[in-house]
Amino acid sequence: MIRVAVNGYGVIGRRTADAVAAQSDMKLAGIVKTKPDYKARLALEKGYSIYASDNQSFDTFRGAGMNVSGVARDLIKESDIIVDACPDGVGARNKTTYEELGRKAVFQGGEEHRVADFSFVAQCNFDQAIGRKYVRVVSCNTTGLCRVLHALDRAFGVKRARVVLARRAADPEESSKGPIDAVVLDPITVPSHHGEDVMTVLPHVEVISMAFKVPTTHMHLHSLIVSLKDSEASEGRVEEVIGDTTRVLLIEGKEGFKSTSSVMDYARELKRGRSDLFESVVWRDSIKMLDGELYMFMGVHQEAIVVPENVDAIRALAGGYTSSESIALTNSSLGILK
Ligand code: NAD
Repeated sequence: MIRVAVNGYGVIGRRTADAVAAQSDMKLAGIVKTKPDYKARLALEKGYSIYASDNQSFDTFRGAGMNVSGVARDLIKESDIIVDACPDGVGARNKTTYEELGRKAVFQGGEEHRVADFSFVAQCNFDQAIGRKYVRVVSCNTTGLCRVLHALDRAFGVKRARVVLARRAADPEESSKGPIDAVVLDPITVPSHHGEDVMTVLPHVEVISMAFKVPTTHMHLHSLIVSLKDSEASEGRVEEVIGDTTRVLLIEGKEGFKSTSSVMDYARELKRGRSDLFESVVWRDSIKMLDGELYMFMGVHQEAIVVPENVDAIRALAGGYTSSESIALTNSSLGILK
């Protein structure tokens, strides 16, 4: 059993903790929380051991009458691998402790590539991550793009991809974040960092991106234009390739998938925990070859897509699994459709 700690119990940490607890080859050693709120109470009710982030937080938990097993450092010592799901930049600071205690760690996309020196997407580069000390699971947008671009690159060769990202403005719980009535250019300058981030996983695939935020809390929508090396690539072949790609679902407008809200409605019907959609979705109707370039729309459920990647990243660091073994274990434990 791989003993796993989850440090940071927010959007990604809570989901990853549940996913780890669902693996037959992993044991969730505990989670780290900063304060004794309802999320901490629910974690205790699930049977998870809570560790306070530091001594001050430990006293706050005790003062609130909530049972904590120790502080973060205690949990790190008891674990083989840490999934660091703290806010952007905090993971980089935590690395000092992981190094000092000789523990392996999985960081998230809010950290710079250099924090782990290896950016991870299971179906793209699992084998190169085997046995490493640190990996960084890339952001939700980068994960979605890497899954599709890697598949297209293997089948046809990708000369260059251009991507426009309409990003959800905030996660559902973030009541103080906007915008409410605006589309925010983020960044105003071109390119955005997303394309460059894809190239930390797929260095030979040139990706240029631009991005803006829209007033929704569920899903990013990507518009892709991809130049393929294989001039014989047809819409039918592209559909086949994407249809065969794990963790990418083909959906269709004629089935009622007209917007991100119908995709999330579908996810709710799947009756997974929190209505999570771990797969990215590509609209079959949007796949078009025009003037030798491939066009498509893709949707990404930002809260969920990196969860299976974190589980696979743990196995890669632990060693002893092939990419396809790990992906199959993760997919079946999380009910991933294909
Ligand atoms: P979040 O704010 O929801 O959760 C972070 C949690 O860590 C919070 O509960 C916070 O209280 C806690 N925390 C803060 N300092 C801590 C410390 N010192 N020790 C332990 N816990 C601490 O953030 P999130 O959205 O889960 O993001 C986590 C990481 O995942 C970031 O790198 C982010 O960029 C990345 N990510 C986020 C999303 C998303 O859509 N939310 C998607 C993909 C990747």
